[in-house]
Amino acid sequence: MVKKITLPQGRRCDQVWYKVPGKTKHLVWRACHNILPTRESPYRRNIVSSNVCPVCHQVGETVTHTPWGCLYARDVWCLACPRLQKSVVLGDDFMHIARYLFELLSTKERDQWMAITWALWAARNKAVFKDFLMPPSKVVEIGNNLWGESVHTSSSGIVLHRLS
Ligand SMILES: [Zn+2]
Repeated sequence: MVKKITLPQGRRCDQVWYKVPGKTKHLVWRACHNILPTRESPYRRNIVSSNVCPVCHQVGETVTHTPWGCLYARDVWCLACPRLQKSVVLGDDFMHIARYLFELLSTKERDQWMAITWALWAARNKAVFKDFLMPPSKVVEIGNNLWGESVHTSSSGIVLHRLS
């Protein structure tokens, strides 16, 4: 089954296939749409008093910060794939980061990136809701186990489109 995703922003059209579990595709889709429930949005609407990252407590939490820019995420990427940890792409647009990585990484590495991105979000949620921060090595383990499941995933894929 192919899931077609239309992204509302941008000027190019990309098609990227992934053989990873659906929950990882869904998370990346939500990040690309900037609709992950970080502290950024409720802070802007004065619902919460702080937007500080619940993991590193250093800067405001955004969709790009949690799975990529956070110091905790950098530690995870260093353990999982040093090539990713050394990637210099930054910014507030998750799609921009994704595009950069899609061009940089092999198909297998892209799948690993998506799986570990999912594990980072799960770790963030555990920190927020269970007040427990997993060691980065555990996040890598969870992500890589999820990534390993992708080997057994059938031909399901995801197609990312941006409207021009
Ligand atoms: Zn952080």
